[in-house]
Amino acid sequence: MPFCSAPIVSLPALRSSVRTHPDIVAIVLTTTILPYPALHASHSGIWICTSDGETRAIGKGEAIGRVAETPHILLNAPLLGQRLGYPDLSGLDLLELFAFIHPAQFMVPTPAGLAKTLGLTPPEQEADSASLYRHAASLLLAGLEAPFWQEREGAWSSAQALFRLRWPWAQEVGQRLEKPVEAERWLFSKLPEWEEEPARPAPRPIAMDERDTLTRLDALTGEGAEDRKGQKSYAAAVTGIFNPRKIKGAPNMLLAEAGTGIGKTLGYLAPASLWSGQAGGAVWISTFTKALQRQLDRETRRIYPDEATFRKKVVVRKGRENYLCLLNLEDALQGGFTGRAAILAHLVARWAAYSKDGDMIGGDLPGWLTTLFRRNGATALTDRRGECVYAGCPHYRKCFIEKAARASQQADIVIANHALVMVNAARGREQQNRPTRLIFDEGHHLFDAADSMFAARLSGQEAIEIRRWVIGPETKNRGRRRGLAARLADIASYDEEGGRAIESARHAAEAMPGDGWLQRLGEGEPFGPIEALLHEVRAMVFARDESQSADAGYGLETELSDIEGPMIDAVANAAQAMDALLKPLVRLGQRIEHLIEEGPDWMDAPAKARMEGALSSLGWRCDTLSGWLSLLSRIGGPADPDFVDWLMIDRFEGREYDIGICRHWLDPTIPVTEVVTKPAHGILITSATLKGGGGWETARALSGAVHLDHAPQEFEVASPFDYANQAKVIIVTDVKRGDMAGLAGAYAQLIEASGGGTLGLFTAIRRLRTVYARIADRMAQSGLPIYAQHVDPIDTGTLVDIFRDDPKASLLGTDALRDGVDVPGQSLRLVIMESVPWPRPNILHRARRLAGGGSAYDDRIIRARLAQAFGRIIRRADDHGHFVILSSAFPSRLLTAFPAGTPIERMPLAQALAEIRSAKSEIRQSGLPTETSLLHDKPQ
Ligand code: SF4
Repeated sequence: MPFCSAPIVSLPALRSSVRTHPDIVAIVLTTTILPYPALHASHSGIWICTSDGETRAIGKGEAIGRVAETPHILLNAPLLGQRLGYPDLSGLDLLELFAFIHPAQFMVPTPAGLAKTLGLTPPEQEADSASLYRHAASLLLAGLEAPFWQEREGAWSSAQALFRLRWPWAQEVGQRLEKPVEAERWLFSKLPEWEEEPARPAPRPIAMDERDTLTRLDALTGEGAEDRKGQKSYAAAVTGIFNPRKIKGAPNMLLAEAGTGIGKTLGYLAPASLWSGQAGGAVWISTFTKALQRQLDRETRRIYPDEATFRKKVVVRKGRENYLCLLNLEDALQGGFTGRAAILAHLVARWAAYSKDGDMIGGDLPGWLTTLFRRNGATALTDRRGECVYAGCPHYRKCFIEKAARASQQADIVIANHALVMVNAARGREQQNRPTRLIFDEGHHLFDAADSMFAARLSGQEAIEIRRWVIGPETKNRGRRRGLAARLADIASYDEEGGRAIESARHAAEAMPGDGWLQRLGEGEPFGPIEALLHEVRAMVFARDESQSADAGYGLETELSDIEGPMIDAVANAAQAMDALLKPLVRLGQRIEHLIEEGPDWMDAPAKARMEGALSSLGWRCDTLSGWLSLLSRIGGPADPDFVDWLMIDRFEGREYDIGICRHWLDPTIPVTEVVTKPAHGILITSATLKGGGGWETARALSGAVHLDHAPQEFEVASPFDYANQAKVIIVTDVKRGDMAGLAGAYAQLIEASGGGTLGLFTAIRRLRTVYARIADRMAQSGLPIYAQHVDPIDTGTLVDIFRDDPKASLLGTDALRDGVDVPGQSLRLVIMESVPWPRPNILHRARRLAGGGSAYDDRIIRARLAQAFGRIIRRADDHGHFVILSSAFPSRLLTAFPAGTPIERMPLAQALAEIRSAKSEIRQSGLPTETSLLHDKPQ
């Protein structure tokens, strides 16, 4: 019990403190060990460290009994609750305490992560974690009394509010905080305001010189950097997209496949920063994964080493639903939230005061914080439903969303994502600052991003959102959410016609599904024409299902064809109801446009901005309703070859979530080409797997370049990695398909052979859960922690952080992990795929397969998935690893998915295990970092 007995500790690891006082080497504080016991549980056991400092193993029943009686110090209550089979478990959660004391700071939420963050020795055995928790709690609380604590402002007021909410830590925190001499400013008065700036002039047309690009690249890579020929030729090729466009509608377009490790990001940042500096324009860099967004945030610091300049020149932009809405937060703090949700709101308010940009998802709000509250209330703190009142909001000038939008108008480099670029282009947002130079990194995801963006979905969940947006919520706990009439009260009072349009819309919206619609459909008692249509959809899907999925409890779908009888009538009635809603909304939009033009006396600048905001969200709803009407108008008529339509029931484990009609473009790159590509002047679409293991025709098809009149430039550079010596693909020949015990056993043995450091990829959540359930205890007893998406109550980003931080850990997951994981070094040395990643044979896939060449289309998808998964292993020149496929029937024709020169061998499991064990010992002997030596490294 190394921690319980030590009353004096040094604090060099309270990182913020050290930053403030660089001359402080070690500060010694007297801490009082708290009188609370601590509890830790993993798959290998449960331990308690009593208030006397004695640690012992206990049984599940005793643990549950104790936590129900006395508050215990613990780490991650939902995870602990899951381990104990007691989901409502609560206590003194160290993660909540950390979030209060060090808001907006990173911590890996594991015993080792906690210890490292606090400068303590990570526990060597699971049993030591419980005593660590008691020690960590004392240390964190002692920090509240330290004179150099950076995040003191606002803590006292926040602690008072949390005390009233019975936050378990409130008493311990409150007694260590002194009441400030002067009243603390509350969050909403201390956040900085954005400044209005003049519109940016259009960029100047300048001819780019490749030599200048290479000089810039040299400056960015730094003196003494290895001479990377591939990176130079890549940067030179990218330079061309910044030259002046010759023909309207024909951008300078480059498709570039750049193998992992060539230094692609600096390769395009060099010409991009050069052009933006000389031409005075912004370059938008669009990514698909958060991992790449973070990497770009780091790499762009090389261009602008001065922090103030960096903050001005580089802006990260995301969809508005990612950011904290201050008005929603204010409402939550003032009684809109109760119970645990209210505690979360106060911890989020602590964070908001110290956050860099207010991004709640993937920004500096710890990903684990909202899961501690079982996502209770977190989404209501963002602006998900487009209820923003813009300049009518008292926090408009401090709003994180507005701040990011304005900052990007003046920035040189805007780091965004595919969805935001497409949604801005499709909805005509931010027209004045429409980007003319675009770089789509992770370009192999362009097709999927477009597929989601340009799809129409007429479903119960979507329709109820429109009803709420027009009418306002109808439950008792209304919060600040209001309907259209309340949001646009000034229009209604000033403009008679506008007022009538609002009233008609409110009346028509009552025909949309309301609260309890799913239950009514289940009981066969739909209310109103839209619910009646959904009722017909539900009946038809169940009647036509031949997939056996009905019994398995998964989602169901059926083609939208051969429709007759009651369905046709239901469609006609629903279309009439939607039209009755669309018309007044369109009329309202026209009145608002008229008012903006007319500029009455009462319409000052903020009121005008609010009208423009209302116009934008009206346009969005009108587009949605028009899309639905067009979808309904085709039902019963001839099929449109450009679209694929179907009826669906979303279900999970037998529970229905949504019911509706879907429409996707057969080729979603058609609308992307029209709204994004053609208006651009220069566009780069790049990726390590742009050709998806196929040829350039694949890249042209997936990027939409086939729809342009002028062919794009194409460029290719191979990875500099020595795959022949760094990696190996093993196809295991003796794990039988469908043998779950065999599959789980193979996973367990492979992870043991590798000593952890394994990423396990599954094509079905059900198999993932089964394997996890079978091997979790065994792995824990071997000292090899295992985590799983869809099982552990932890968000995916945090799971990857945990995996990266502990080279003994393994992670199981599905699609999101296939190329959203960037874990260089020994933390990832083995990737296991349980089977060939066949595409799901749904209606949409069937239509695209038919149009795309049958099995060749499938092969293209599988090769791309294999190439992405394989790309996880070798991230650096000194990485080594194995890629194991547990499918004896793996087709040889797919082997071209792997980089040229990669050794590929079919062998039985026993031989694979021997190879992986021997590779592990080679790494030890060669002096490369091993699991143990890496255990104490900082997160990368
Ligand atoms: S301006 Fe809109 S998004 Fe921003 S805080 Fe106000 S209501 Fe929320």
